[in-house]
Amino acid sequence: MSGDSGEVVGKIVAPESQEDPPTFEIVPAHERDQAACQHHRYLLDEKWRTVKCRECGEPVDPFAILIRRAEWERSWEYRAKGFEKYRRKMLIEAARRLIRLRDTGDSEIEELKSAIERSHYYPHDGKWGITTDDLAVIVRKIESAVEERRSEKRKVKRDKRNALNLGCRRAQ
Ligand SMILES: [Zn+2]
Repeated sequence: MSGDSGEVVGKIVAPESQEDPPTFEIVPAHERDQAACQHHRYLLDEKWRTVKCRECGEPVDPFAILIRRAEWERSWEYRAKGFEKYRRKMLIEAARRLIRLRDTGDSEIEELKSAIERSHYYPHDGKWGITTDDLAVIVRKIESAVEERRSEKRKVKRDKRNALNLGCRRAQ
């Protein structure tokens, strides 16, 4: 076939026979949707590269599964981020509480204050000044040191009281 310029622009081959069956048969999408199962467990057939439902054997659209999975992950990530935010908030509160305690040492107070100060998100770097895990390590470490000191104090007080009581009893 020739165009006006005389160049061959294409070639149309007539079907060999009008009776030739089409290579592909199309099942309309709406028919498929109706048949789609509601199960959520899949069989990945590596040999035939197919995805089927593990419960009913219905062939499933791999892309649809990926989309569903991606949405689920996104929602999970969202919840996880919410939890992380809550955890950080609790740790900062614990750090502030420790700063107010009489039994927290000066260097510990400095460490806590610096940790709180670094507990900011830097959008430019895309990260926090201190990770929640590192913050937790500092807070827990100082918390247990302070608690140890306090219980030691309580013990000394108790021993003193007991000794006093014993003295009183002896005097009677
Ligand atoms: Zn199924």
